[in-house]
Amino acid sequence: MSTPLPCPACGAAMAPEGFGSAFVEVCAGCRGLWFDAGELGRLDSSKKGIGPRLEAALREPLEIPEHATSRSCPRCAVELDPETYELQPEADVDVCPECGGVFLDPGELAQIRRRPLTAEERRAARSRRRRRRERAKRAAEREERAMFVAILVGILASG
Ligand SMILES: [Zn+2]
Ligand SMILES: [Zn+2]
Repeated sequence: MSTPLPCPACGAAMAPEGFGSAFVEVCAGCRGLWFDAGELGRLDSSKKGIGPRLEAALREPLEIPEHATSRSCPRCAVELDPETYELQPEADVDVCPECGGVFLDPGELAQIRRRPLTAEERRAARSRRRRRRERAKRAAEREERAMFVAILVGILASG
């Protein structure tokens, strides 16, 4: 096993946990979350991710400490940049300028997941719904044809 990453906020060890499709480092001390580059995008809307670990992380109350001390990346040791999450202006996240990893204080993931869907996500959801409807329609048509054949066979057999 590799050495655990130190939490950027409190220095306690972080342990990787599966949140459905993404692996997240969870701090044993402050319950902050570390996402490697691109991982946060897998969990940044209420439709993404699954599992009891994710549910537990989403129940954490929002606790944003004063950013008095600087925070550094657990992988690159460079200072994290405080930024607003691009899809959720209410959420202030800490981003590593080197590796693109992101640190979230407890409760910030829930805040980020409450963001409205983007136009692209809405389009994707609409086309998924359309495909589901078309599949259901085709299945109903197949069933109708099968019933018709069964009736026909019944008529022919009795005639
Ligand atoms: Zn911590
Ligand atoms: Zn980094």
